[in-house]
Amino acid sequence: MKTARRILVAGLFLLVALAAVLTINTMRYKPATVSEAQLTDLGADIGNATDNLSKAIRFATVSDDLTRPDFDGFLSFLDETYPTFAANTERMVLDAKTPLYVWKGSDESLQPVLLAAHYDVVPIPPGSLEKWDHDPFAGTIDDGFVWGRGTLDNKGALIAMVTATEHLMLAGFTPKRTIYFSFGGDEEIGGDGAKSVAKYLHDNGIQLAWALDEGSFVLDKIIPGLDQPVASINLSEKGYLTLKLIATSPGGHSSMPPRQTAVGQLARAIDRLQNKPVPGGLTGVSEDFFDGLGRHFSIEQRVVFANRWLFNPLLESILSGAPSTDAMLRTTTAPTMLSGSSKENVLAAEATATVNFRLHPRDTVDDVIAHVRAVVDDEGIEIRVNDGFATPASPVSSTDTAGYRDIEGSIRAAFGPLATVPGLTIAATDARHYATAADAAYRINPFKITSDDLLRFHGINERLSIENLERGINFYGSLIQKQ
Ligand SMILES: [Zn+2]
Repeated sequence: MKTARRILVAGLFLLVALAAVLTINTMRYKPATVSEAQLTDLGADIGNATDNLSKAIRFATVSDDLTRPDFDGFLSFLDETYPTFAANTERMVLDAKTPLYVWKGSDESLQPVLLAAHYDVVPIPPGSLEKWDHDPFAGTIDDGFVWGRGTLDNKGALIAMVTATEHLMLAGFTPKRTIYFSFGGDEEIGGDGAKSVAKYLHDNGIQLAWALDEGSFVLDKIIPGLDQPVASINLSEKGYLTLKLIATSPGGHSSMPPRQTAVGQLARAIDRLQNKPVPGGLTGVSEDFFDGLGRHFSIEQRVVFANRWLFNPLLESILSGAPSTDAMLRTTTAPTMLSGSSKENVLAAEATATVNFRLHPRDTVDDVIAHVRAVVDDEGIEIRVNDGFATPASPVSSTDTAGYRDIEGSIRAAFGPLATVPGLTIAATDARHYATAADAAYRINPFKITSDDLLRFHGINERLSIENLERGINFYGSLIQKQ
């Protein structure tokens, strides 16, 4: 009897102690205090900027065909529309489609910085044109928005950047640091232009303090459970690898099939890959992202984030459950194409699966290939890197730099005292090229977007609110003034 009571008392004591630890950790786990940022109004003419964005959209700079006259047309339009920008910068011709402008700073001992945006756009998929409320290349201004392909991705940022710069130049401002501006003309098809910019900087011994490009936004109610907007300033972007898995067999007629066929062998390999994803978890930039976000959740959710020593497995399994958060945790595996025999009664002599991987910064290309070999565990299947092309994730930039703090401060100058978190871009952008010539590369578009806007990105009815355009101008204005 006595022993049972002792066990009960000890159990109760442990429970109380556990509750106390969970509570204390949760109370301590809170957002960093943000000083009330002074909203900055640069005072640029927003009506004029809106008209300029509208005009910019009318150039159909679709990068499926780089011979379109719209590309040269757009660059001439920029020079004519922003004459002070053109007069105060030197334009380097490194690549016909991707101009690099340099605005000399007053202190040559300081490392320069680079602001980037791209002006090529993705095509309108066949059959989707009639679903647009406004012609994608008319630049219609309606209902507080500029409509059209490229407003969100990425001419809106480009126009905001040039508008702010022109305004500051006219006001007689000169930065201490030299500022480079790079406007990509082929970002959507691999970014050879950005590559040539990075090469130029490298060849001339120019090492940037930081580069800023697209790659994220101020996210408004996009993260489930988070009611307030949060600016994700991304520090890295995922890498890219496509593997071809090839199974072969003697082929023959389907009336006398062997027990094992090339198609069956391949199916087993894909099934194994799907069931055993590349290991991931809350480490590195993924940990920083979710740790930063977790602090802004409701108290019940914060208990989980604040007590990772206990709830980590639970948290990781919840985050792995949704494709959008799973992509932040690991290298993803996506079988995308399959081919076998071309006739229904002929056995495939060769069956091929194409599997696309987006590499988390913790994994190298070789790590992922080794994982695939081990999981497929079938020497009869050849594994080949598609087109010999593969690229690892870009280096994870530090948050402990003047550049990161300037970007953070400028986001708050434009949007007010909102939360910022360091993040990871899960798609590929030009920033990975600029990163090779910079101590740090950061990625954010200074626009506040909702889940609805995300669908319009590369989609139908792409648009940018005039309010966002104004905030973007104030963001770049603030950022440039800090240089
Ligand atoms: Zn883009």
